Amino acid sequence: MARRSLSKLPSNPGTMFIDGEWVHGTREETIDVVNPATERSFAKVPRGSREDAKRALDSAADAQKGWEMLPPLERASYLKKMAALIRAKSEQLALVLTSEQGKPLFEARLEVEGSAAHFEYYAEFARRIEGDVLPSDNPAQTVMILRLPIGVVAAITPWNFPSAMVARKLAPALVTGNTVVVKPSSNTPLSAIEIVKIAEQAGIPKGVVNLVTGDGSEVGDELCGSRKTGLVTMTGSTEAGRKIMQRASAQMGKLILELGGKAPLIIWRDADLEWALRCALWARYWNCGQTCISAERMYLDREVKPKFMSKFVELTKGLRIGDPVSAGTDLGPMVSARERETSEEFIELARSEGSSVESGGLRPPSMPKGWYLEPTIIDDVGQDSPLVQKEIFGPVVPVLEVESFDQAIELANDSEYGLASYVFTRDNRNVMKAMHEIKFGETYINQVGPEQLQGAHTGFRMSGLGAEGSRHGLELYTQMKTCYVDWSDKPALPYLFPYT
Ligand code: NAD
Repeated sequence: MARRSLSKLPSNPGTMFIDGEWVHGTREETIDVVNPATERSFAKVPRGSREDAKRALDSAADAQKGWEMLPPLERASYLKKMAALIRAKSEQLALVLTSEQGKPLFEARLEVEGSAAHFEYYAEFARRIEGDVLPSDNPAQTVMILRLPIGVVAAITPWNFPSAMVARKLAPALVTGNTVVVKPSSNTPLSAIEIVKIAEQAGIPKGVVNLVTGDGSEVGDELCGSRKTGLVTMTGSTEAGRKIMQRASAQMGKLILELGGKAPLIIWRDADLEWALRCALWARYWNCGQTCISAERMYLDREVKPKFMSKFVELTKGLRIGDPVSAGTDLGPMVSARERETSEEFIELARSEGSSVESGGLRPPSMPKGWYLEPTIIDDVGQDSPLVQKEIFGPVVPVLEVESFDQAIELANDSEYGLASYVFTRDNRNVMKAMHEIKFGETYINQVGPEQLQGAHTGFRMSGLGAEGSRHGLELYTQMKTCYVDWSDKPALPYLFPYT
């Protein structure tokens, strides 16, 4: 396919959306949005200020009661319209996404469809925001647990899924009656802006959805520390998650944090090796390895490791690195020069530790422009190495050997992270063992992700707090409230004053 021209994209699509209007904010300063495949800036968005964040929070707070008062089914009708509008514009949205983030257009299309599906899925919950009605310990009384909206939600999103992460937060927040301020990553603000434009087009009342672009340390910090924010839902690094927790603690702000990962992938001797290889390849390298559920360390049964390695190296070398808008590209560039340098530092470390770089390790000579990096396999690496312990958000993977399935589980669990994990085996006892003993929020057995809407996306340890997706994720956007209702003609309680 011929290279698509970025001139088809609006040159400056981005401003901020506050109280139903597209505004430039209080500052002149802007942030360049750079195409990772060309290293050229193709749009600018305002570098929002604390003042802009405060105005967006005021707008969301003012709109919240009116939005809450609508029947959930009416709120859901906006979500359904958004899903339809996203699908109608899907090709344009995918092109914006690829242009700012670098993933192959094929993957961008899947992500955009996933965004539409989030709105559709949570719209279906309009009739299922369920509380409890319970018998009281006292006569002629009823206990009711209601699920109310929390109020204003700050939705802070990362760059690796710049469309789907916005949808995953907006949809459950809105259907449960909250209003929202979106703060996208400065690397990739345009996809979030497109989703907010679609909310506007769907006719969502003014103030219900707001968007402020800018730095996490300023705009994000203001959103997290404000008394007006009822819930912060953030997807991003563990480091930023920790800062957000500290900031939100002043107001005892509620939190959903979807943070870093270091997913282990175990292949046992009885697995379908051909299938496991194809899955391992994709699980490590989709989105150029920039996925929180990426298979970031592989544990191979010693019986299959030699065969696995020779085939895995061959398949890795066969991946097509190229222009992400061209059909037939498997790996696009990484999102930024900084992210590529971080991955390169891990490759350097592997060399200095005496590990063996079995494939890749360099910038591909065929792509002199753009932040490309060859997919890289590291052998002879120890469990304690930072390559195995730290998140590598790029196409670099250490492979280790194990002697027993129990050892594989033990090494998999030896991590500060606990998000996703993968197991390939046909032995039912191993499957059950993995389900119970691998202490990670997700285990994919004989398959790969991405996670599905009805699953709870959640993590053990430093991978976060709460969950997204599923009815469990929805409930976190609600505040429980218990009401004790007396309906007797002659109310009486044995413990009131005066005591006898
Ligand atoms: P990041 O932490 O740098 O930024 C994420 C968002 O948080 C951005 O919008 C950023 O501006 C904001 N932010 C940063 N510091 C902040 C602060 N002090 N206060 C408020 N907001 C702040 O993450 P990233 O580099 O954009 O994304 C990559 C990371 O995201 C990886 O660690 C990856 O594992 C993680 N991730 C996790 C999931 C998941 O579901 N668990 C999904 C995708 C990405």
